[in-house]
Amino acid sequence: MSQRTCVMISSWNGVPAALRAGEVIAGGGGMLEALVRGIGVVEDDPEEMSVGYGGLPNEDGVVELDAAVMDGPMHRGAAVAGLRGVRSAAAVALEVLRRTDHSLLVGEGARRFALALGFKDEDLLTPRSRKAWLDWKASLSDRDAWISPDQATSGFGRALWAGAADPGTSPDSPDSPHAVPPPGQSRAAAPNVPFTFGTIHVSGLDANSDLFACTSTSGLSYKIAGRAGDSPIIGAGLYCDNAVGSAGATGRGESVMQVCGSHAVVAAMEAGRSPTDACLFVLKKIADRTREKRLIDEHGRPNFNVTLYALRKDGETGSASMHEGYEHVVARGSAVETRPCAFLFEKRTQRH
Ligand code: ASP
Repeated sequence: MSQRTCVMISSWNGVPAALRAGEVIAGGGGMLEALVRGIGVVEDDPEEMSVGYGGLPNEDGVVELDAAVMDGPMHRGAAVAGLRGVRSAAAVALEVLRRTDHSLLVGEGARRFALALGFKDEDLLTPRSRKAWLDWKASLSDRDAWISPDQATSGFGRALWAGAADPGTSPDSPDSPHAVPPPGQSRAAAPNVPFTFGTIHVSGLDANSDLFACTSTSGLSYKIAGRAGDSPIIGAGLYCDNAVGSAGATGRGESVMQVCGSHAVVAAMEAGRSPTDACLFVLKKIADRTREKRLIDEHGRPNFNVTLYALRKDGETGSASMHEGYEHVVARGSAVETRPCAFLFEKRTQRH
């Protein structure tokens, strides 16, 4: 079998993951281990508010993580969902794959499994993510006892809100919903409160042309406790077929799940579409099947973003977003590059 250059494709936030994964591979590690350890760097980062430690919590203020891995040669995936108190969700998913016959462990069971293996039990809220959650709670309604920004007239209240200009995930981060507000949320009501989707996905092709994938997230911020998105669902948040390619998704998981998004991207590549066209084809499927008014903007387009990532068996990559302005990362050997995503809908300038 010919030796080839390793190729990875990831979400916009995947540069540190790709660099660490490259080091693991250079040190003789396998691609799946490399992806998990690479993603571990992002899970460990307290400033990254959509993944792992410091991720934004659920509506009760508890961080719940979802993650999955898929091994192309074995054609097997494994995942955890609603994992509390353990930051390394991707590594726990890898242990589910390695040590069990199961595909998905959730909630308390996932946590007990991780603790049994010696993963550290800790509070995943950072002062910054706790503050974001408290700000979100206070901004929800003026018909409860939490004092919201416009009500904060006293010195103490104003001082609390003065620090609320924390952007949370980078306002320019492609999969933060700062560009496209999530359904049902008026950003005007709480302009400084981060409300975010956000996830890391990395697909990798190793030197033997075998495919692997990994996704990790804290999911939708302020979600209802127990909500799992697409990320831990094999076929939705990630999928690989070792004969064809690998794919992943970030953005509004509820929409990705309705079309089995990552599986659909791989199937489209199998049917002969290029990686980029396969992503665009599936995004169109999502857009065409978005029927609820609350999810559609005044131009008839989905009011949320989804970004898809595709890596074909021959090393060709492609990525596309529902809306213009998003980026992804491609690593070939030691060269790591951020690239713009193709898109379905261009930005519209406001006209009156
Ligand atoms: N897809 C993730 C979820 O729905 C979030 C994201 O990628 O932004 O949980």
